Amino acid sequence: MVAAFSHPILFENMNVRIFPVILLLIFVEFGFSQSPTIDPNSPCGTGDLSTYFAQMNFSSSDIQLRSSTTSYFPLNVVSVGNDQGQGHLDPVTIRSSLCALNQDFEFLDVQFYIKDEIKYLNRTSYYDHDKNSGFEMMRNNNDRNAFNVYIVDNPDSTCGYFNQTNPAIAIAKNCFEGGLHALTHEMGHYLGLPHTFFGWENLTYNQTRVPRTLSIRGSDTLYTERVSGQYCDKASDGFCDTPPDYLGFRWSCDRDGYSLDTYVDPDGVEFKVDGRNFMSYSLNSCQETFSTEQSNKMLVNLLDSRNGLYSGLKYQFVADELVSGENIVPIAPAQDAEVNYLNVRLQWEALAGSTEYYVEISRFPGILFNEDPNKITLVSTNSFVDVGANNLLLDTKYYWKVYPLNPFTLCPVSSTEQKFTTRTQTNTQQFSNGEKVTIFPNVLSGQDRNINIQYMVQQAKTFHIDLIDLQGKVVLSQDSHILGDTTEPFQLPNLTAGMYFFKFSNGQDYLIQKIIIQ
Ligand SMILES: [Zn+2]
Repeated sequence: MVAAFSHPILFENMNVRIFPVILLLIFVEFGFSQSPTIDPNSPCGTGDLSTYFAQMNFSSSDIQLRSSTTSYFPLNVVSVGNDQGQGHLDPVTIRSSLCALNQDFEFLDVQFYIKDEIKYLNRTSYYDHDKNSGFEMMRNNNDRNAFNVYIVDNPDSTCGYFNQTNPAIAIAKNCFEGGLHALTHEMGHYLGLPHTFFGWENLTYNQTRVPRTLSIRGSDTLYTERVSGQYCDKASDGFCDTPPDYLGFRWSCDRDGYSLDTYVDPDGVEFKVDGRNFMSYSLNSCQETFSTEQSNKMLVNLLDSRNGLYSGLKYQFVADELVSGENIVPIAPAQDAEVNYLNVRLQWEALAGSTEYYVEISRFPGILFNEDPNKITLVSTNSFVDVGANNLLLDTKYYWKVYPLNPFTLCPVSSTEQKFTTRTQTNTQQFSNGEKVTIFPNVLSGQDRNINIQYMVQQAKTFHIDLIDLQGKVVLSQDSHILGDTTEPFQLPNLTAGMYFFKFSNGQDYLIQKIIIQ
């Protein structure tokens, strides 16, 4: 197994002067590095939360707080890398992993969104940390007006933990990536839930001696939860609708989500542990729900303006509509086009509601696309990206897709896969002022009469275009008004096979581009 490492590099603004739009372009490279340090089945590292839970007032917990509309809460998402800036998950993976959190909370009509944008922090002592360093990271980087989530490589040798002192979650990449429920479990702690096996964290079950009470921190005493429900509000996690659970270690379940072994309560009643609860220690695949009482406690913390610890964080405005790549309309290059590999601009129609776009480029189509460790990821606030020289191989077919995003879209959906082939630089010449015009492809076959004209210009201007055959006869003549750097599709007239020349005049001088129709 390998972990993907990446390091974002900020590109310079590459826009033309007449349209000074903000362009954020992060180029993410992937390579291979050492094996993952955290097993996805590692335990939760959340410590004793008695002090934290004591701040919560649940006199109103029996009130039905569910609203008919979805409530949104901000996440301060901090992706932590090492000192060299490596180790970050790519932005689509981070979103797709947060998607699992939203799916798990959807039944409560609660959703989370990314406040501002994903933040990047590079420090090895945080990336791979013990609790001291982790708590320092949270103290220095928490946002008091959001739920704080730090994505790291190794959070104190656990899958993740919640810190009650400076409220924040640290989550291991390996327990976060790919739709796991570890973050949901930690969010349960954040919102006031103990483990369903509370009191058994450091105890081993012994069938011949099941204690009637459990000692917490050596002083507080809890009843051991019983199948009958007796003392259930004073037993273990204090919820009457979470059945007995004595398993303070990771365990696998049967197909219905229950423990493979049978246990006995202090009354001698046999039972199997229900592993479907997010706050149990069953394996990820068993987990699917919170109980009603657990849900009510979380909803009080989220929605009750008098008693809720976090009700002040609720998003007060109308959330943005979600955006989907299904609505992306690609512009250039045309599907299957051949492009000048030194200067590839991928472009699509701007999609309403999108605040940024993630573009992925791979040499592989279909399911191999997502697995490609050398996938190129670009981020742009504009509806195009320039892939840049030296990032693409020559004479290679590439596949690309776009994810439109906004802060509320945590389950990104990509556009359909587009493809192009890189060819060597066409017959580019330069005007005396340094401006260039390039056509591609410059070899057409069959009935294809579609090419692209790429203008690299300093300011808006009009080019006169003549298309000339080998005999010097002008077969097409027109003007093209260009606002700035752009690539425009161009349809040739129905010409017979042969060689032709494009003559581009800018008023002072001209350059010639050759095109062959086979
Ligand atoms: Zn836990």
